[in-house]
Amino acid sequence: MRFAVGGIFNETNTFAAPVTDISAFTIRRGEACLDLAGANHSLGGAIDACRELGIEAVPTIYADSLATGTTARPIFEALLDELAERIISAGPLDGIALALHGAMVAEGHPDADAAIVQRVREVVGSGVPIAVAVDFHANIGQPMLDAADIVTVYDTYPHCDQAERAREAVALLARTARGEIRPVTALVKPPMMPVPQGQHTEQPPFRDLLARAHEIEARGDALIVSVAGGFAYADVPEAGLSVLATTDGDPALAHAIASDLARQAWNARDRMAVHNVPVADAVAEAIAFPGGPVMLVDVGDNIGGGTPGDGTALLAELLRQGARGAIMVIADREAVALAARAGVGGLLEATVGGKTDRWHGDPVPVRGRVRSIGDGRWVHEGPEWAGVPVEMGTTAVVDVDGVTLVLTERATAPGDQQQLKSLGITPTEQRIIVVKAAVRWRGGYGPIARHAIHVDTPGLGSANLAGFPYHHIRRPIWPLDADAAWPHPA
Ligand SMILES: [Zn+2]
Repeated sequence: MRFAVGGIFNETNTFAAPVTDISAFTIRRGEACLDLAGANHSLGGAIDACRELGIEAVPTIYADSLATGTTARPIFEALLDELAERIISAGPLDGIALALHGAMVAEGHPDADAAIVQRVREVVGSGVPIAVAVDFHANIGQPMLDAADIVTVYDTYPHCDQAERAREAVALLARTARGEIRPVTALVKPPMMPVPQGQHTEQPPFRDLLARAHEIEARGDALIVSVAGGFAYADVPEAGLSVLATTDGDPALAHAIASDLARQAWNARDRMAVHNVPVADAVAEAIAFPGGPVMLVDVGDNIGGGTPGDGTALLAELLRQGARGAIMVIADREAVALAARAGVGGLLEATVGGKTDRWHGDPVPVRGRVRSIGDGRWVHEGPEWAGVPVEMGTTAVVDVDGVTLVLTERATAPGDQQQLKSLGITPTEQRIIVVKAAVRWRGGYGPIARHAIHVDTPGLGSANLAGFPYHHIRRPIWPLDADAAWPHPA
């Protein structure tokens, strides 16, 4: 058998500045897609599964990016055209395996993932099964399910099972292609939109919801049962939590399973609510804590959720309170250029951060010695994305009073200790580590963190959803509408 593999992977924060430049995407064409084999990655997992099952994996195109703002229409449509053309020119195929995020928005395509699967369906017709592996933060809608045969969702946040879920998708795709099973999926979406910080899957209530899903799978009642936490920062109708159940040809059973688990999620919503610490209190608490590292979690500037990574609220407060032994990464191309001009050992005088938009604090004036300048390349050691390379762009380490400031050209989510280790910095020796994340930091830093403080910083990742100008989500929806009711009264 031959399965085409590929995808377009983007998580969209529709409140962030739109993407108009194709360079936001890393694009692997043809054979280059196969470089992801062996990595903890959904495309890599799909390729590995094909090889193990004796199926030829036919690479097409894989375009991915950091979480960003809405993708410009011509960029999205050009990528989609290329995916379609490469599938057409791949010759006879027995199945398609797509690695998508599930919360992508492009101009003119509010459900871009559905648009991708629909286009692929048009190209291959009804006779070729399509499997899709999506992120835990996917905002899943019925149109994507209608066009796909199989959808798997990561069961972990921080994400550690990308490859495994894609392997599951390919295994079910193979059984479907051989006519052994006839997957049917039910989707139930209670009116709830929990923020990322309330979605940690190693803690209740998500831990319990996923344990229940796995129990149902283990019992053999369903082929796949998934709970996708959803992504609240995409202002689209399908934003929010999704429960999916896929059975072998039994739609009523799929619906009953999904409804039951959705009710359980709805009833647990209050335990998904989060309460963060004001900036000044958080910094005082971190300074007073004996030993370290203390993680100051910059929730408002959660890079993995599409923020610019240049939020300054914590930098300003750390300097104001005279913190010692703190480290913080800020994306600021302009400041990196100034540091490079000053050179190693030189003096940097610059205003740092707060330059992308008005959501993430003001630029902060700093004066410090440049300790090092590097190319900002490193490879994830895991558990998240192990083996996947990262390019932060030119990166300068600058000592500013008691704060080690790492300036990068590109925003980079802080899920892995290699981000600092690759710069010769030992994370365990830091007293305070600022992470621009909600939950993702736990993958790399969880094992070494002595204490963590979630900070109510301003920004496009803020847990205070009432501060966002929503126009397209379903209303009423929890937590924006405390009185949201479900099931809806008849
Ligand atoms: Zn995610």
